[in-house]
Amino acid sequence: MKNNIKIPFANLNKQYLAIKREIDEAFNNVLSSASFIGGKYVQKFEEEYADYLGIKFCVGCANGTDALELLLRAYDINKGNEVIVPSHSWISTAEAVSNVGAKPVFVDTLNDSYNINPSLIEEKISEFTKAIIPVHLYGLPAEMDKIVSIAKKYSLFVIEDCAQAHGAMYKRKKVGSIGDAGAFSFFPSKNLGCYGDGGCIVTNNEEIAQKIRMLRNHGQLQKHNHLLVGRNSRLDALQAAILSAKLPFLDKWNNNRRANAQLYNEYLKDLDVGLSGKGSHSNHVYHVFVIKTAQRENIRNILNDNGVETNIHYPKILPLTNVYKEVDANSKYPISYSYQSKILSLPMYPELEKEDIDRIVQIIKSALIVK
Ligand SMILES: *Cc1c(COP(=O)(O)O)cnc(C)c1O
Repeated sequence: MKNNIKIPFANLNKQYLAIKREIDEAFNNVLSSASFIGGKYVQKFEEEYADYLGIKFCVGCANGTDALELLLRAYDINKGNEVIVPSHSWISTAEAVSNVGAKPVFVDTLNDSYNINPSLIEEKISEFTKAIIPVHLYGLPAEMDKIVSIAKKYSLFVIEDCAQAHGAMYKRKKVGSIGDAGAFSFFPSKNLGCYGDGGCIVTNNEEIAQKIRMLRNHGQLQKHNHLLVGRNSRLDALQAAILSAKLPFLDKWNNNRRANAQLYNEYLKDLDVGLSGKGSHSNHVYHVFVIKTAQRENIRNILNDNGVETNIHYPKILPLTNVYKEVDANSKYPISYSYQSKILSLPMYPELEKEDIDRIVQIIKSALIVK
């Protein structure tokens, strides 16, 4: 059943061609303005994105990892402090904690949704704990009510890692607006991505927003008036203008992702491939579409032989990576550890066609029969 047409994991070129006029215009406007760092295009996007999320402040920065790190610094989290993070995420979630000198304390995930398990958080809280970073992994909001109530009980900050969940809703709120603050990445393949690196923080707390404005720009609000030891972590004007051009399409793209996920779910429901749960009160934005199967390697190879590109998010849980190497991590995080060898991310993007999904599912079915 070989077929020569390749199905990529994501297709940024197809998206660009669909909105070429808007993007080219945004690009040309910035080139003509000759204002590349800071300025009106950055401010415009910050205001538009804050409005979109229903939150007071958005501050652009260089990437999503920096967004997390800047927030930790703004909340004065550093050496001697601990921060609760899920055992299963992209490295940035734990890396940002380590980079401010604090210790990431891992918590296993839920059995059906890949997100942090709120009922395992309290036993990991110590006198050194300062914050919880829930990740809305794969585009599905974490169980925020439970997380926020634990945080309140122990006076902890909640910093949402929203890098995979632009526009996802929990109850009636967009993610990023539920905890104390949120961190977004605009890496090109994210649900809202620019054409390089980019990120932002969002919060309703004016003091934190102001502190981030300083931290991202050498500790200054006015040139040469350095009030804090900051750094350079700014969002470029070109990237901001591209994000402004793309933002009006985000809801439509997320709807297309959901429709594609629905097709996958429908076609795959009778197969033993552990489809992910929907979480409670959540509107999933399917940054990635993940299946779980003991035959992962077999399926992955056959898909690859047929030109279908897949990925693994992620091959190792964080406590088992070389940087953390926690002893007995396999038995301490049994649920996320058990995923490690089973999870497979299938192609997922708004422009994916029904015929593509049909073909991918046919290949998976044939792979499962062959065994
Ligand atoms: C992409 C991502 C980040 C960081 O984003 P960068 O912009 O690449 O630094 C952080 N957390 C999660 C869960 C991510 O997927």
